Amino acid sequence: MVLEFTPSGIYCPAAETYIDPWRPVRRALITHGHSDHARRGHGAYMATHAAAPVIRHRLGDITMETTAYGTRHRIGDATISFHPAGHVPGSAQIRVEVGGEVWVASGDYKTVDDGLSEPFEPVPCDTFITESTFGLPIYDWPEEARLARDLNAWWSACVADGKRAVLGVYALGKAQRVLRLLDPAIGPVLTHGAVEATNAVLRDQGLRLPDTVPVRDGVDAKSHPCAIVLAPPSALGSAWMKRFGAVSTGIASGWMRLRGVRRRRAADRGFVVSDHADWKGLNAAIAATGASRVFVTHGYTVQFSRWLAEQGYDAGIVETEFGGDSLDDTEDSPA
Ligand SMILES: [Zn+2]
Ligand SMILES: [Zn+2]
Repeated sequence: MVLEFTPSGIYCPAAETYIDPWRPVRRALITHGHSDHARRGHGAYMATHAAAPVIRHRLGDITMETTAYGTRHRIGDATISFHPAGHVPGSAQIRVEVGGEVWVASGDYKTVDDGLSEPFEPVPCDTFITESTFGLPIYDWPEEARLARDLNAWWSACVADGKRAVLGVYALGKAQRVLRLLDPAIGPVLTHGAVEATNAVLRDQGLRLPDTVPVRDGVDAKSHPCAIVLAPPSALGSAWMKRFGAVSTGIASGWMRLRGVRRRRAADRGFVVSDHADWKGLNAAIAATGASRVFVTHGYTVQFSRWLAEQGYDAGIVETEFGGDSLDDTEDSPA
């Protein structure tokens, strides 16, 4: 096996290296900075140049080598390279070649171009490890333009009603994606500290993001009556919100496709948007790899692997400790 599934994580014996391990290991290749993939305690880390700043911001002082996309590294008897996953800025799929056999561990990915993340790139391989967070046909994401229209229409309606729009988004990826879709003609965009800290890291590395106003003393409903507020989902309904007076709350998540989840979260509005591939995206991505064997991790693994087997793939399920999509602050869990 080029990659093995062990209690510590996905392991490459030829390189003596793990991919996104969930237990502390000597050497880890990290696909991206979300907390279920980039964890504390490893001896050495490797990630893309663009993923590294957020990983350092979250994990502090770690030993990390960084790489450009596409550069081939010889580690032990394996050749390893990172390729764009389109999930969040800097996110990567990891290609591992041993003795002419190629496996790709995709981490989290999406096939829609969000204008910020390096667009998903299909990597030809024999075996593909895919997530299936949204691996059912009901998950069919709206076009980016429609999402922008819906967000801005809601924000405008809030302004007309004398309310602040407060949108729950997780700090890395979705916050910046939503930020780019908001129409600055409607009003200013206020940010919770967790969102602004990630914005600052990404701006520092050269990503161009629209202007934001960090929430601090004196920033409130009176000073910014037409504002929309971007905050982690956990801030919704907290005491922190009091300063904004009358509000309308929204949540941006792929899970908003499910009415039950929407109701449980008690937000006024749900916007269907995810950093993960929808059903069509998963199927297109897998087909584009040309892989004959597919391992399915997190989400609807049973249903999705059965579907793949029906399509003629040699499909298997892998238990991992990865999450799904964010309703929490760091990312990834269905309510
Ligand atoms: Zn992720
Ligand atoms: Zn994840």
